[in-house]
Amino acid sequence: MTEHSDLSDRLEQVQTRIRTAAERAGRPPPRLLAVGKTRDAAEIAALARLRRAAGEALPGFGENYVQEAEGKFDAAGAGIEWHLIGHLQSNKARQAASRFDWVQTLDRAKLVAALAHDRDPARPLNVLIQVNVDDEASKHGCRPDAIPALAEAIAAEPALVLRGLMAIPAPHADPERRRPAFTRMRGLFDALAASHAGIDTLSMGMSDDLEQAIAEGATLVRVGTALFGARPSRG
Ligand SMILES: *Cc1c(COP(=O)(O)O)cnc(C)c1O
Repeated sequence: MTEHSDLSDRLEQVQTRIRTAAERAGRPPPRLLAVGKTRDAAEIAALARLRRAAGEALPGFGENYVQEAEGKFDAAGAGIEWHLIGHLQSNKARQAASRFDWVQTLDRAKLVAALAHDRDPARPLNVLIQVNVDDEASKHGCRPDAIPALAEAIAAEPALVLRGLMAIPAPHADPERRRPAFTRMRGLFDALAASHAGIDTLSMGMSDDLEQAIAEGATLVRVGTALFGARPSRG
């Protein structure tokens, strides 16, 4: 089997999983964000072509590192919506804002001004607040009680547009154990939507738990392994 048909089969499998989970939940299917970490620009371009051919006008791709993404933006070609989904260092924020369409990992006040600094308010940057939903000491993301103040700060910046929330729940071998975290995120998302206009994105769910995330109301799932295959380990 060729590399290309592998990719196209995996895309079809992921889309079937998403559709089936959404039907079960009685919700519209969430958006697919393909996570390209460790994947080169040619692989990303190939998947983007498949997705455009299947009718997605502007397929979304997620990158974890600003520096790694820099090498892919031009090489992967036009017609891709780029999302930063990895932890953002303050000294990389201006660079990230100038190249990405979305930043999903805004988790502290300092990033608000840094992201807005050079961004043209005529083309505002879409942002999600990353929440440390399991209160893990080692994890990035804000505490749930910090969401309202961050949301206010973002709303006050014309160069940023707040779209919703993102979370990476604590790992558990059994994805069912992540469901309570997804449920908590849904509650936080509904509360945010009740106090801010234009909130439409709840980013949660990955290759092994997208069914649970969709059942709890994810509107965007971030999928790497199930699309591209297992990642080579980073040496
Ligand atoms: C790697 C990654 C994903 C995708 O994980 P898979 O298990 O490969 O689907 C999603 N979100 C973030 C933030 C990631 O770093």
